Amino acid sequence: MHIGPASDAEPDLLPDPFGRIVARIATAAREAGRDPASVTLLAVSKGQSIDAIRALAAQGQRAFGENYVQEALPKIAALARLGLSWHFIGRLQANKTREVATHFDWVHSLDRLRVAARLSAQRPPTLPPLQCCIEVNLDAEASKGGVEPAAVAELAAAVRELPGLRLRGLMGMPAPHADPAATRAAFARLRVLCEACGPDLDTLSMGTSGDFALAIAEGASCVRIGTALFGPRARPGR
Ligand SMILES: *Cc1c(COP(=O)(O)O)cnc(C)c1O
Repeated sequence: MHIGPASDAEPDLLPDPFGRIVARIATAAREAGRDPASVTLLAVSKGQSIDAIRALAAQGQRAFGENYVQEALPKIAALARLGLSWHFIGRLQANKTREVATHFDWVHSLDRLRVAARLSAQRPPTLPPLQCCIEVNLDAEASKGGVEPAAVAELAAAVRELPGLRLRGLMGMPAPHADPAATRAAFARLRVLCEACGPDLDTLSMGTSGDFALAIAEGASCVRIGTALFGPRARPGR
């Protein structure tokens, strides 16, 4: 699909949400002195119908993110022929690892070794390693998953040893801050942590509908966008 010209138009004047978001990502990247192609759009489809996902795929979107295994599996099965990539971004329960290891291409929300080891052992040998990001709890929120920043390096080292996984980078979601500067500072902390983890990491998964431009300014390579692409969710997601 050709999306070039849209990127140069006034993003907010574009009629469709997909074109508008693609253009806003490109604008944010250029404003940060970055190549727009260095930012991947992950369409977060939790709470959205199979038809809505199919429609976005028809516009050229390839990567989709889901938070709940039970909700995701029928979507993945129904759309299997489209060759989409599926990213698990929700809280990962140990009793759901086999489904995730079997049906997903990526996990963004790895936050403990026990779950990582299960995913690695359960990854079917016929598939490439499961691509993984470690989730970091950026603002010490008790309600959220993710490892504390001080524990990232140790978990990263352990995950690198697991043959069924390939560690790609870090994921984070800042607490809701009234001040954009505080959100941006949280993104900056994640970037610094990722750089400290080693040069083999190429993925910084950060930024959602409300703050992706700030995340791109701080180096996001993957932005996870739901409501700004699809509209409101059918049921509360997180
Ligand atoms: C729901 C969710 C998103 C998308 O949030 P929007 O505000 O709808 O863009 C991104 N990341 C994670 C981890 C989520 O749970």
